Amino acid sequence: MADVAAPPYRTIPIIPALKPGSMEGVKSFVANDKINEALGFPGQLVDDWHDKAIAKMGELLANYRSLKVYMDACVHCGACSDKCHYFIGTHDPKNMPVARQDLMRSVYRRYFTLPGKLFPKLVGARDLTRDVLDEWYTYFHQCSECRRCSVFCPYGIDTAEVTMAAREILDSIGYGQKYANEIIGKVHRIGNNLGLPGPALNDTLEGLEEDVKEATGIDVRFPIDVKGAEVLLITPSADFFAEPHIDSLIGYAKVFHATGTSWTLSSMASEAGNFGMFIGNYDQLRKIALRIREAALELGVKRIVVGECGHAWRVAYSFWNTLTGVGGGADETDRFAQMLQKQLDHRYKQPMHICEFTWDLIERGALSFNKEANDKHIITFHDSCNVARGSRMGDFAGGQFEIPRNIIKAVANNFVEMAPDTTREQTFCCGGGGGLLTDDLMDLRVKGALPRMEVLQQVVDEHGVNFMATICAICKAQFTKVLPIYGLDRRVVGGVHQLVSNAIILGDK
Ligand code: SF4
Ligand code: SF4
Repeated sequence: MADVAAPPYRTIPIIPALKPGSMEGVKSFVANDKINEALGFPGQLVDDWHDKAIAKMGELLANYRSLKVYMDACVHCGACSDKCHYFIGTHDPKNMPVARQDLMRSVYRRYFTLPGKLFPKLVGARDLTRDVLDEWYTYFHQCSECRRCSVFCPYGIDTAEVTMAAREILDSIGYGQKYANEIIGKVHRIGNNLGLPGPALNDTLEGLEEDVKEATGIDVRFPIDVKGAEVLLITPSADFFAEPHIDSLIGYAKVFHATGTSWTLSSMASEAGNFGMFIGNYDQLRKIALRIREAALELGVKRIVVGECGHAWRVAYSFWNTLTGVGGGADETDRFAQMLQKQLDHRYKQPMHICEFTWDLIERGALSFNKEANDKHIITFHDSCNVARGSRMGDFAGGQFEIPRNIIKAVANNFVEMAPDTTREQTFCCGGGGGLLTDDLMDLRVKGALPRMEVLQQVVDEHGVNFMATICAICKAQFTKVLPIYGLDRRVVGGVHQLVSNAIILGDK
C-alpha cells in the first residue's frame, strides 16, 4: 500500500504510449486447496490441466453461443483498444480489450478452428502452454468485467463474458482466485461476503437504532427475520458496518419508516452481492441467489427490494427470474419458484431497486425533504458499471441513469455532471469491480481509477464538487481507498441514500 502512487493526470487524454509487460508481475493471489475444495473445485492445478481446460472451453463454446460469436466476430478494428480504464492507467497493451480477448481467441483458434489446427502461425493460433495459462490468470484478473469496451465495439463483443469464461475454465482446473473464491465460501458458510455472523449482525442493527434515535429522537427500526413483513431488503453486507455504506442503510430505514412500510432484513440472506457472476460460474451464481428465495419464502414477504450494490442489482435484474423465480419468466417446473410467484405481490416490480422504491414515493408526494440539509455538498454522480451497462430501472429507457439523479435533485440543491463521455453508458469503472477489490491488486486498482479521478478532479476544480454519490458497495469501498492516493478526502464518496438520509423529514406524514 505504502509504495502505491497515483499516475499523473493526462493533459490531453489520448491513447497512452505502450509499456509492454508493465503489469505482468501484478498477479492476484491464487486460492488454496481449502478455499477451492469448499466450492467443489479441484484444490490445486490438476495434472491434466491442459486437456481439462480445452474440454471445458469446448463445453462453454457449446453452451454459450455468444462466446463462440465473440471468438469469431472480432475484426481487430481497434475501436475498443483505448476504452479500458486498466489500459489507460497501466499502458500495458495486454490490458487493451481486444488483446485481452485474443489471449483466449488465439487458443480457441488452435483447438476449435480448421485453419488454426492446420496453419497455427498464419492465423495467430497458440497452444495452451503453461505460460499462456499463467498469462490468462494474470490478465483475466485485470479485467473488472465492466463492459465499457463493448459499448464501443461495432459487433457488440463483450469482453466481460470472455473474462468470465476464462475464470470459469481456470476454476475448473484448480487455478482459481483467492479473493473471489474465499468470499463465496463465506457466503455459503456464514451468510455474507464479510463473514459477519448472525449475533454480530443483530448487535450492529441494535446499535444503529440507538445511533439514529440519538441523532433524530425518533425510533427508526432495523428489523431482521420478521415473518410477515411486507418488504425483504437484500443489501450488500458492507452496508452493515463499512463507511460510507452504513449511511445509505440508515437512509433506506428512514424511507421505510417515513412511509410506514413494514420491512425486514434476513440473517439467512444478509448479502446482496453474488461473486458467482464474477467467476463466471453458473452453479455458484444460482446457489448464492437461492438463499434469497429461501429467505423470502420463509419470511412470507410480498416484495423484494435490493440495496445499493451494482453487480447485485445486475444479478437481481437480469438473472433472478430464471435462477430463483423472483420476477417474470420463472421456471414453470420449479415448485419453489412457482410458490414464490404466488406469494409475491405483482402490483409491484419484482425485484425492485431501492432507488426505484424511493423515487416512486417521491413522485407520489409520500416523502418530504429539507434539501438545505445537503447544502454543504456540491454533488456529482458516478454511474456504476453493472447498473449502467448490465441492468435497468423504472419503465423507461435509461431509467438506471435518471432515477438516481432524480433522487439526488429531489433531496439536494447542488448537482453537477461529470464529462458526458465518462458517465451513463460510457461510465468508467471505479477500478475495483469484478472481483478485483483486493489489496493484492492495489497497484492495478489505483491505476485503473485514473480516468474517473481525472474527470472528478475537473468538477472539483471547476465547480467545487465535494461529494460523489454512487449506488454500488464496491465503488464506495474502492474510492475510499484510492481517493486519498489521488489527494482527495475519502469522504468525497457516498451513497444516494446517504443524501436521502440527511434531508428526509421524519414524522410529518
Ligand atoms: S475492464 Fe472493462 S473495459 Fe476493460 S477489458 Fe474488461 S470489460 Fe472491457
Ligand atoms: S471493437 Fe470489437 S471488433 Fe473492434 S477490435 Fe474491439 S472487440 Fe474487435
